[in-house]
Amino acid sequence: MKRVTLASIAAVFIFFACQKNDAAKEPVEETATPQLTERKCAADEVLQQQMAADPALRQRMQEIEKFTSRTIASGNARLVNGVIEIPVVVHVVYRTTAENISDAQVQSQIDVLNEDFNNTNTDRTKVPDHFKGDQTNVGVRFVLAQTIRKQTKKRSWGTNDDVKRSSRDGSSPIDPANNLNMWSCNLSQSLLGYAQFPGGNPATDGVVVLYSAVGSKDKAAGTYTSNYNLGRTATHEVGHWMNLRHIWGDATCGSDLVGDTPQHNTSNGGCPSATHRSTCTGTPLEMWMNYMDYTYDACMYMFSNGQRDRMLAVFAANGPRAAFGQ
Ligand SMILES: [Zn+2]
Repeated sequence: MKRVTLASIAAVFIFFACQKNDAAKEPVEETATPQLTERKCAADEVLQQQMAADPALRQRMQEIEKFTSRTIASGNARLVNGVIEIPVVVHVVYRTTAENISDAQVQSQIDVLNEDFNNTNTDRTKVPDHFKGDQTNVGVRFVLAQTIRKQTKKRSWGTNDDVKRSSRDGSSPIDPANNLNMWSCNLSQSLLGYAQFPGGNPATDGVVVLYSAVGSKDKAAGTYTSNYNLGRTATHEVGHWMNLRHIWGDATCGSDLVGDTPQHNTSNGGCPSATHRSTCTGTPLEMWMNYMDYTYDACMYMFSNGQRDRMLAVFAANGPRAAFGQ
């Protein structure tokens, strides 16, 4: 009797073991497209973690800050030969079919970057009159250099940069001194993206964007996250990669180190009213339509002149991204 029972247990075990093996061969199940109630970018959070782990980073960034101020003051934050062209390497790190975004969706992201950084986005006309004088053409061009597709077993990725490491089932950056590396993947923690500022470790340099926020629903078919489906997450993250801070300075009435952006209480979400004012000193109208705020994709459509000068300084001779300006 006992022998029979053991045999039965063994049979059941083998049955389940086979089931497990069979399941492993099944195609991966699709998960629902992430839907988010607010914009969340972890660039500042990641910076704080990196500075804690690498005390020399704070010093490097202080030097970059001094360089930026000097370069802007001397008027040298200008385009080299009239244009800066940025080759972009896109790493599509995917598990499900939906995460393996199409070439058309990748290209639509490059197109959005070119529009937003050259003030040719069709919604540029929505900038309210009181900010029209601040609206700018950054004058940087983006060219898709390479798309790398990497199938992974990981369901989602955090901010520990594993997605940027081939040794961790991610995809390592290609020549970050001469390419903007952009990772498209399934981010956890309801994140839309994060970026690394100039001065950080080259091995993790670049921007990371939630796969369903890459590209524009108006330009390419795909599965998109509502309200964050026009490619502005990448515009925002590339702004960080070019040394822009969040417009509220990541503090109550904080500083974004830019002269012509108004002081914001904190981040704005959704689509605020044009007359929305800050309660910081002078109660200025807030520039919530700036790409470095947290509003919906459809409600951000400008960089400011001061942000342009700050971004271009990183490409000046001896700047942290000087290789792109040569
Ligand atoms: Zn951000």
